Amino acid sequence: MQKIAIFPGSFDPITRGHVFIVKRAIPLFDKIIVAIGQNATKQNMFSIEQREKWIEQVFEKDATVEVQTYQGLTVDFCRQVGAKFILRGLRTSADFEFERGIGQVNKMLHPDIDTVFLLTEPSFTPISSSIVRDVYRHGGDISKLVPPEINIPSP
Ligand code: ADP
Repeated sequence: MQKIAIFPGSFDPITRGHVFIVKRAIPLFDKIIVAIGQNATKQNMFSIEQREKWIEQVFEKDATVEVQTYQGLTVDFCRQVGAKFILRGLRTSADFEFERGIGQVNKMLHPDIDTVFLLTEPSFTPISSSIVRDVYRHGGDISKLVPPEINIPSP
């Protein structure tokens, strides 16, 4: 049976930290689906089509990585695509506490699905999509924070 993992998030936009986690996980799984969660109550900066396109470009050469969008519970999406693993990245102990809660509730909902955590590269610890959005909004240089495929014109 294929080992499929999903890497869920908003990716608004995808950052170097996200890319690091997916690249490190490639040898662990037969397929990784970068899954953009659509949350009607969340105000995003970049459109879902734009976010999807950037992720496709970043992983263009990685044959086992694909992008999908989903609505609803992450564990339900896992079931739909036959994924037994949820991949998440950890930066700090605060991330761990947050992720622990989500992971444990997901386990209650679907005991057959496991969350796999990978530690980020130390230099990527301060990077988050929200910091990228803030820097971008105020006209700063985001090139050290996002992958080179993301060529966003100034706001
Ligand atoms: P969410 O909307 O769930 O916060 P994100 O797009 O911010 O989604 O993050 C998705 C995943 O990527 C989460 O597991 C998060 O911890 C991880 N992540 C975010 N930034 C980094 C980073 N700099 N290094 C490693 N993992 C990260």
